[in-house]
Amino acid sequence: MTENREILQAIFEKIKAYDRIFLFRHVRCDGDCVGATKGLKEILRDSFPEKEIILTDGQKSDYLAFLGEDDPAVPENAYHDALGIVIDTANAARISNQNFSLCREVIKIDHHIETEPFGDLRWVEEHRSSACEMIVSFYDTFRDELTLSGDAALYLYTGMVTDSGRFRYEGVTGETLRCAGILLDRGIDTDTLFAHLYLTDADYFKFKAYMTGRIKFTEHGVAYLYLTRGMQKKFGLSHEEASNVISLLDGIKGSLIWLAFIENPGEKDIRVRLRSRFVTVNGIAEHYHGGGHACASGATVYSKKEAQALIREADAVLADYKATHEGWL
Ligand code: AMP
Repeated sequence: MTENREILQAIFEKIKAYDRIFLFRHVRCDGDCVGATKGLKEILRDSFPEKEIILTDGQKSDYLAFLGEDDPAVPENAYHDALGIVIDTANAARISNQNFSLCREVIKIDHHIETEPFGDLRWVEEHRSSACEMIVSFYDTFRDELTLSGDAALYLYTGMVTDSGRFRYEGVTGETLRCAGILLDRGIDTDTLFAHLYLTDADYFKFKAYMTGRIKFTEHGVAYLYLTRGMQKKFGLSHEEASNVISLLDGIKGSLIWLAFIENPGEKDIRVRLRSRFVTVNGIAEHYHGGGHACASGATVYSKKEAQALIREADAVLADYKATHEGWL
């Protein structure tokens, strides 16, 4: 299952030792961090009914609302004698509930490239397709002592599906599918799940048509889109709908790197979503206040000039890749 059996054992001992456990995830939550925290919460609550398992996060996601609400906020002193488990978050600044630092001990469980080793215990496996896969693996390792309900399976499957591009990305292994199999065996209504995740309002198609006409390409094939605050207002986009503009660029032959620049409403910064096939892009993201995975990273720029510099850097990376590799598409 995992080469980190000793770390998993140590994590399980900590879980057993604490009466109160807080779960934490990253800002701008996505299917994986929501699924992993809700999934682990459910497993721990069902397995240890005497413990308090708390997931409180000020941030919400419309498209994941079908998974249900988190817990209400609790006073700061509740954190002091608690264990904190931070999932799917590479660096401490991106943890959405910064009260994690008040916990007596902190565990990090993550599948991002390790840039900041925070916490007292760390289980980081960069090759994992999702943090949810790691939680399923954890469950499977101690399955004699843990309970996996149908709800927990749904939460975890949601994260596995969304973070792996529906089991399509490079990180998907036999182990990924074995973990998914454990969840499916609990009986997940996948038709309803996929409808929640991937159906859009008819109006969103008009937005997609508008943006498709605005796709630009660099000399060596980097495809990119720039989404202004004005466009977001014009089409009445939610945060997730705006973020999803990156998906319009996926699947263009020869465009091995694609970028979406999304102006942050109410702020000066511009969010950058970087995606690629074959080529590594997290190095580019790290030059612009970001990071992430080899083929899926995030960054922030603060002006159109900086956005242009990032595009030029991506173009140079792609030019170099194409000049030194064969067989790409
Ligand atoms: P996104 O395009 O925001 O979905 O990000 C793609 C991947 O990169 C996700 O796994 C994020 O967790 C990660 N990521 C995004 N922004 C950052 C950042 N500023 N620092 C580190 N990792 C990031």
